[in-house]
Amino acid sequence: MTQGPLTTEAGAPVADNQNSETAGVGGPVLVQDQLLLEKLAHFNRERIPERVVHARGAGAYGTFTVTRDVSQWTRAKFLSEVGKETETFLRFSTVAGNLGAADAVRDPRGWALKFYTEEGNYDLVGNNTPVFFIKDAIKFPDFIHTQKRDPYTGSQEADNVWDFWGLSPESTHQVTWLFGDRGIPASYRHMNGYGSHTFQWNNEAGEVFWVKYHFKTDQGIKNLTQDEANRLAGEDPDSHQRDLREAIERGDFPSWTVQVQIMPAADAANYRFNPFDLTKVWPHEDYPPIEIGKLELNRNPENIFAEVEQSIFSPAHFVPGIGPSPDKMLQGRLFAYGDAHRYRVGINADHLPVNRPHATEARTHSRDGFLYDGRHKGAKNYEPNSFGGPHQTDRPLWVGSAVTGATGDHAAPSHAEDSDFVQAGTLYRLMSEGEKGRLVENLAGFIAKVSRDDIAERAIDNFRQADGDFGKRLEAAVQALRG
Ligand code: NDP
Repeated sequence: MTQGPLTTEAGAPVADNQNSETAGVGGPVLVQDQLLLEKLAHFNRERIPERVVHARGAGAYGTFTVTRDVSQWTRAKFLSEVGKETETFLRFSTVAGNLGAADAVRDPRGWALKFYTEEGNYDLVGNNTPVFFIKDAIKFPDFIHTQKRDPYTGSQEADNVWDFWGLSPESTHQVTWLFGDRGIPASYRHMNGYGSHTFQWNNEAGEVFWVKYHFKTDQGIKNLTQDEANRLAGEDPDSHQRDLREAIERGDFPSWTVQVQIMPAADAANYRFNPFDLTKVWPHEDYPPIEIGKLELNRNPENIFAEVEQSIFSPAHFVPGIGPSPDKMLQGRLFAYGDAHRYRVGINADHLPVNRPHATEARTHSRDGFLYDGRHKGAKNYEPNSFGGPHQTDRPLWVGSAVTGATGDHAAPSHAEDSDFVQAGTLYRLMSEGEKGRLVENLAGFIAKVSRDDIAERAIDNFRQADGDFGKRLEAAVQALRG
């Protein structure tokens, strides 16, 4: 903070910041007290619309370092050399809670990572889970309505949650994940991150590869049981945010080992699972993870509102050598994120310090709008022009895909081993006996709260189809609670 007298927003010195101006001693307050009016008006406007999802979060800056040559798969410059470092900003979040909600809850954690590369910002907007509840963005508003507050009761309702999940069997894999031990991480430092979607990498020769990103925590996986989380959520609602800030303050910088799974483009059509289905992983035995880098978080934001609340991420922020896949959830998100931040932060959100490219500059012909800072001065605002200025490169960031057939409301293609249940069953069977027990107990405690038997039965049946033992144990546990 600079020294000198307190001022108004317009810079005039303030004589008295304790007493508003009145007509005589004990008289009414005067409209001419501009300091009072300005303070109250500014205060009323301190909040911007909170994110509809992922409202509650914490963030930190860091460094991504390349540890393996990946130029055979992508021409992205920030990945071009072993040892190359790129500044990053990572925002963690929960999904369903409002801005003031507790951190220690059972919910996926958002993993929104911005790389400030020399070719523009690359955003990887994933989660701490490799999969998601649905596979088509057209279901997203419905899904989130079931997770948030019911329009009548004003609370999250078990009926809505289980009705939707029961009727959306593709959610079974992610729900199994969420109610397992990893559904409540002990902190943001003790969990993995995933790009979740499949993305395109393309190399200098124009060859295409499909890629999935994994960020494996170097702190080790640590989770909270439901009872531990219930207690912590009450005692320290800001537990995850505090843990992250304090670790960085004491120089205990959290890090993640970055891995990718790479699928040559030619494999995709006949792979046993649809490789663009967000409810599925690529089993490691099919495409073994390859270590390519290290991510370290090492600097706290100085102002949470400016740098975390106003930070924006978009899966559509690609750089040369990286692009989208036909994953229908990803395709929807390519629109939805930019749209959300244009509404929430405004059309010039990209130019705030946390959001603008750090290692290069944005050169566009977009102008004006709320809070435009005039950075382009008198430069021409159209292209082509005869006065110099930025121009197109004629080289797309990614390589186009071949498509055939008629437009229509098509479900994504089904591959040989696709089913909504197969990978949920695999996940159940890799859990320890102890985790299986906690998974069943966590699920049963929630399913038992629904008001109708048919909703409970449909929910249980999805897990029964994933694994017979899973279904049997869950049915018994729900019955024991519902009587
Ligand atoms: P692998 O045995 O090769 O890998 C198992 C994966 O499961 C590891 O990534 C491991 O993460 C993770 N895992 C272990 N315990 C849990 C748990 N309780 N909750 C969530 N994840 C856990 O098997 P596959 O690749 O064949 O995958 C089998 C199942 O593992 C999948 O159906 C999926 O549910 C889950 N999984 C798979 C991932 C993938 O990309 N293939 C990624 C994450 C989960 P870690 O190494 O950190 O212990």
